[in-house]
Amino acid sequence: MTQRIAVYGGSFDPFHTGHLVPTVRAQETFKFDAVFFVPAGNPPHKQDEPLTPITHRLSMVAMATLPYERFFASDDEVFVDGPTYTVETVKRYRERFPHAGLYFLLGSDSFSQISTWNRWIELVNHAHLVVLHRAHIWGSELRQRVPEELRSRLVEVEPFADVPDPTEQTVYLLNHDPFPVSATDVRQRQRQGLPIRELVPHEVNSYIEKYRLYRTDDED
Ligand code: ATP
Repeated sequence: MTQRIAVYGGSFDPFHTGHLVPTVRAQETFKFDAVFFVPAGNPPHKQDEPLTPITHRLSMVAMATLPYERFFASDDEVFVDGPTYTVETVKRYRERFPHAGLYFLLGSDSFSQISTWNRWIELVNHAHLVVLHRAHIWGSELRQRVPEELRSRLVEVEPFADVPDPTEQTVYLLNHDPFPVSATDVRQRQRQGLPIRELVPHEVNSYIEKYRLYRTDDED
C-alpha cells in the first residue's frame, strides 16, 4: 500500500471531540501513516471574528493528540504572514511527501461550501478528500450541494471498510455516526459557565480552565 498522509485544517478554537472522534473513525478505515492537524493561521473567511491566538490553539491540538500515535499537531500556518489558504498548506504537504497518497479531511458542512474556497479546484487535484459526517448535511442534501465537477468522484465508504489505493482523485464520504459538537457551542457554554467536559478532550478542558480561555473580562 502507498504511504497515506492526511491533513486536517481548521480553526480548532478550541479542538473538540467533533474533530477528534470522526478522525479516529477515518483512521480506523483509511489506516493513515500520519494525520497532521493544522490550526489555521489567518483564514480569509474568518477575518472579522478574532480567533484565539494560534499558540493556544496549537497547544490544545498538541495535547489532545498526544495519546494518538499517528496524530500530529502542525505549526505550518503559525509563521505565515497575511491570509492563509488551505491550498497552499496542502501543496506544502505534497512537496514534503511527493510519493504518498495525500488526503484532506473536512466536515460535510465545509465540503458543501468548497466551491467558495480559494483555488479549490487546485486543492482537490492535489489531495483526495475524506468528508466526515456532520449531522445536518449528509445524503441527498449533501449530494445536491456538491459542485458538478466533483460528482463523479464521490465514493461512499463504511467505517472499517478496506479502502484500496485510489487510481484517480477521489472524494470519500465516510459514513460514520455523526458527532454533533461545534466550537461555537463550546465557547458559548464556557462563557455561560456551563460544563464543557463532555465536548472536548480532557487535556483541552484543563488547558481552557488553566488559561481562562473563552471567558468574558468581567468574570473573576
Ligand atoms: P466554529 O463553531 O467556530 O465554526 P467548528 O466546530 O466548525 O468551529 P472548525 O475548527 O471551524 O470547527 O472546523 C474545522 C473542520 O472540522 C471543518 O472541516 C469542519 O467541518 C470540521 N468539523 C468541525 N466539527 C465537526 C464535527 N462535529 N463533525 C465533523 N466535522 C467537524
